[in-house]
Amino acid sequence: MKSVAIIGAGITGLTAAFYLKRKGIPVTVYEASGRVGGVIQSVWKDGYLAEFGPNTILETSPKIARLIRDAGLDSRRLYSDPKAEARYIVRYRQPIEMPGSLLGFFTTKLFTVKAKFAVLREPFVPRRRDGKEESIAEFVERRLNQEFLDHAIDALAAGIYAGDPRKLSLQQAFPRLAELEARYGSLIKGQIFGAGERKRRGEIAKDRAPKFSFDEGLQVLPDTLAVQLGECVKLETIVAKLKQTSDGWWLNLLTKNGATSAEHTAVIYCGTAYKLAELQTTLTRPSATLSHRMGEGLGEVTSLDLTAFSEIRYPPVASVVLGFRREDVAHPCEGFGMLIPKVEGFNILGTIFSSSLFPNRAPAGHLTLTSYLGGERQPELALLPAEKLVELTCEDLRILLGVRGQPAFTHCVVYPKAIPQYNLGYGRYRGLLTEIENQAPGLFFAGHYRDGVSLGDSILSGCNMAERVGKFLTAK
Ligand SMILES: Cc1cc2nc3c(=O)[nH]c(=O)nc-3n(C[C@H](O)[C@H](O)[C@H](O)COP(=O)(O)OP(=O)(O)OC[C@H]3O[C@@H](n4cnc5c(N)ncnc54)[C@H](O)[C@@H]3O)c2cc1C
Repeated sequence: MKSVAIIGAGITGLTAAFYLKRKGIPVTVYEASGRVGGVIQSVWKDGYLAEFGPNTILETSPKIARLIRDAGLDSRRLYSDPKAEARYIVRYRQPIEMPGSLLGFFTTKLFTVKAKFAVLREPFVPRRRDGKEESIAEFVERRLNQEFLDHAIDALAAGIYAGDPRKLSLQQAFPRLAELEARYGSLIKGQIFGAGERKRRGEIAKDRAPKFSFDEGLQVLPDTLAVQLGECVKLETIVAKLKQTSDGWWLNLLTKNGATSAEHTAVIYCGTAYKLAELQTTLTRPSATLSHRMGEGLGEVTSLDLTAFSEIRYPPVASVVLGFRREDVAHPCEGFGMLIPKVEGFNILGTIFSSSLFPNRAPAGHLTLTSYLGGERQPELALLPAEKLVELTCEDLRILLGVRGQPAFTHCVVYPKAIPQYNLGYGRYRGLLTEIENQAPGLFFAGHYRDGVSLGDSILSGCNMAERVGKFLTAK
């Protein structure tokens, strides 16, 4: 009987498992920790609903809506309040609303006249033709100007990757922007002419896509998928070794009751890049290319050296959820939240106005603010004790949002390795994954370290991988 092992019960692994099971293919999901959802963590405490990892899913593709429908969660999905569309960027030490229209752009005080002229000039900047990889910072300096980098893109890089724009690769981390330049010769022209194509493909641009969560937070999605998968999900089970056999894969499993093993026709790795580096993997059909590339000798059984994946940076991020009495916050906090560029000199990377986005995130008369510290900008901050994290966050929120007094609710969670940095040279790791898949039939890779770091990207990665593995099993 053909079966599939899925390593990791984050949203990627659960989505892939859910769709394979619906195709009638037996699946088993192995999860190292004692819970499902990976970095998704919603916690109810003292009347507050705190989200420590992701806060929203962007509905950029019809496949995302289909998963919610197929999981029977349509009635529990909550779209964000339409009034909460405003996004702020901090400049001159205060949050300024990002313009939502052309007129808004030319009248905003977020950018100087010089920056506005840089936008008018952008369609006439020649496209780069040498094919050289560049950082998002170099790209923005080349096509727009330094001010856009310092006051907008730096904040965006922190908001999406908790990353450094000087290190993040344009082609790997922001492929849409690279594509706009390559196809249309300009970001502005690409925005205008690319809209029709996106519509035909049924895709929605990330800045326009509807955002949603669930009545009891994002954890509802992995929990529901896990319930539907039932006995197929094995918690507290680490996949430590993989060995290719004559007709599939042998897995060495570490559980609290000791080591055990299982055999499956195919394996989908949906864990993290740094844990992939620790996975002891042997191929029985040695591959000249991979052996050479990975410095291994040829033999009957070849061990794959996956340690290169430990080079991928996952900087630490601390998530600080604070509850305040409404009257203790001067700013209306109506909107999605605010991003803070490095040049402004604050501790926090940004804050989500969580209780403006969805109902029931805070008790009546209170609001919830979720702030992030650390990332590539100041990784050391994320590792400070909880009291210090709260103190630094309150210090910033006092200046930025006019917060008074002490928070009524505090809860911090640290992700020691949060989000992979698609830095310059990241293409090498993606290339290596493809190469391994080609040389080791039945071993597949999906998830945030390969197909994009957002929740939506991970859901699509899981959906697409279920299709691909289904076809592989049919052909086998
Ligand atoms: C703080 C933070 C905020 C974020 N905010 C947003 C947001 O607002 N919007 C958004 O779209 N995205 C956001 N993201 C990104 C998004 O949440 C993730 O990219 C996505 O959830 C990743 O899902 P995944 O299944 O690929 O990986 P993970 O969630 O990392 O799951 C991988 C799982 O694999 C397991 N595992 C690893 N190795 C093994 C092994 N050998 N054996 C068994 N199990 C193993 C791990 O225990 C883990 O449970 C955020 C991420 C973080 C950290």
